[in-house]
Amino acid sequence: MRILVLSDLHANVTALDAVLEAANGRWDLSVCLGDVVGYGPDPNEVTARLLEMGTKTIRGNHDKAVTGVMATDDFNPVAKAAVDWTRAQLKPEHMSWLAALPQGPLATEGIVLVHGAFQDEDEYVFTPAQALDGLLDSTAEVTFFGHTHHQGGFSYQDSQLEVLQIRPRNSESFAALRVEHPRRYLLNPGSIGQPRDGDSRAAFAIADLEHQTVEFWRVPYDIAAVQERMRAARLPEPLVQRLVVGR
Ligand code: ZN
Repeated sequence: MRILVLSDLHANVTALDAVLEAANGRWDLSVCLGDVVGYGPDPNEVTARLLEMGTKTIRGNHDKAVTGVMATDDFNPVAKAAVDWTRAQLKPEHMSWLAALPQGPLATEGIVLVHGAFQDEDEYVFTPAQALDGLLDSTAEVTFFGHTHHQGGFSYQDSQLEVLQIRPRNSESFAALRVEHPRRYLLNPGSIGQPRDGDSRAAFAIADLEHQTVEFWRVPYDIAAVQERMRAARLPEPLVQRLVVGR
């Protein structure tokens, strides 16, 4: 079974459509690690795509903030402005779907999904020390996380933790990781709607555990078109500009 792993879509439907075109239907099931909305100009369109695909989705901090499940006290003013704008745009049926999204960790089809850390959905996992708990505690050998918007991950076996550098080069669309039993993995597909790892291309992953591979993909999309919609919506300029630099 090929599982399409989506994360941090952030209301960017142009990026999501480029991802779906690249994946070209060569997947059996889709999952999403949260942050469906927030920052981007297309909250209804992105939510509608996930509903159409029946994507198994857990909530991210932006989904919680927009739906009022979580207060926005910890959000910076730019993120808060995007939350308020998104709230005003969302159709009631999309708002209620987002509000009802389950919290990770969620086990499905042999993998586990979390938004941030395994023990805390709102924690950013950047370092090996932060990754260790998830690698040890997860109920599956392969766990996917998001939240940092950095494609990559960690693996663990025999008390050795490894940082995985598996991003495709600029000239490549994907890089494949070979998954070895009983090694444990904590993998981030990267962000579709607002990458922050220095590569502005939309990021996602396809997991095929029967064939012991996880593919890490990057696809270009029409960033200028998204920026135009963001400016028309008067979303904060720093959010508009960061799409180009991928930071
Ligand atoms: Zn996010």
